[in-house]
Amino acid sequence: MGLAAVNTVTGPISVDELGVVLMHEHILVGYPGWEVDQSVAPLDRASLVAKAVKLMGELRALGVNTVVDATTADFGRQADLYQEIAEKSEMQIICATGLYGENRGGSEYWKFRARFGEIGAEIYHLFLQELTVGIKQSAIKAGVIKLVSGKGAITDYENKVFQAAARAQQETGVPIITHTEMGTMGREQADLLIAAGVKPAKIQIGHMSNSTDLQYHLNVLASGVYSAFDRLGLEGLAGSPPDSAKLPLLIELIKRGFTERLILSHDYIMAFLGRPLSINPSDIPSLAKWHPSHLFKNVLPELKAAGVSDAQISTMLKQNPCRLFG
Ligand SMILES: [Zn+2]
Repeated sequence: MGLAAVNTVTGPISVDELGVVLMHEHILVGYPGWEVDQSVAPLDRASLVAKAVKLMGELRALGVNTVVDATTADFGRQADLYQEIAEKSEMQIICATGLYGENRGGSEYWKFRARFGEIGAEIYHLFLQELTVGIKQSAIKAGVIKLVSGKGAITDYENKVFQAAARAQQETGVPIITHTEMGTMGREQADLLIAAGVKPAKIQIGHMSNSTDLQYHLNVLASGVYSAFDRLGLEGLAGSPPDSAKLPLLIELIKRGFTERLILSHDYIMAFLGRPLSINPSDIPSLAKWHPSHLFKNVLPELKAAGVSDAQISTMLKQNPCRLFG
């Protein structure tokens, strides 16, 4: 059993309509606690929508057909706002269900509930509701499950979230995409999900580009999952090395025959909810390349110059996401 179609925030589409997909970007991120600052900094819906519609228009002009917003339910995701952005920009946007890691997410709510009962079934119920019925009281359905673990360990809480996701994945057929921290736990995430019944071909291990250790990459790929170089252009933040360290490794993996398991994206964050930051990330000189057009403007020419073919690029941008969703 699986979904006949892919849920976007504006309704179902078939997998062959996905086209070129950016598998891990963020329209919005809101660290838990942003909500309490709304007396000072209310959510400015109109300006967020305008900014996102402009960005989506730029990406459409570069040939992007679909953007996956990887923001978890407890990290500022605003599905109704994404729907308005998708309608106005005609970009296909897929949003996520899922929960952030224990450290930085909304885990306190669940950990409190765990004192009284079993939260695994409750989290599973939430994921299934968002995938098959709708988010909050809307009919907007999530199209992927996003999972997160911290550096060097998958905590008991995160393990419960992963187990709940594995159940919801098998009932719905949606892909699971993950966040790994500082180039750790990629293989452990894959093993945990596969042991819980998820097929490797439905799993995208994220932020693999944070590791420059070839053996780590080969070990994760050996489990059969998709591996995401999804922080292209992000240099020196969140442990993400410069592209000059990432791209040779990506090219090496392509040469070793892993093209059919590689995913490319930026982990770009268009806006942070809450009070405006004192400096806009896009104005920080070292983040000049961190933009979802970077792949098309800078990375693909570099890959081609290194001998990567148009067919291999198409495999990474179109066929691989299509198979993940299919
Ligand atoms: Zn992300």
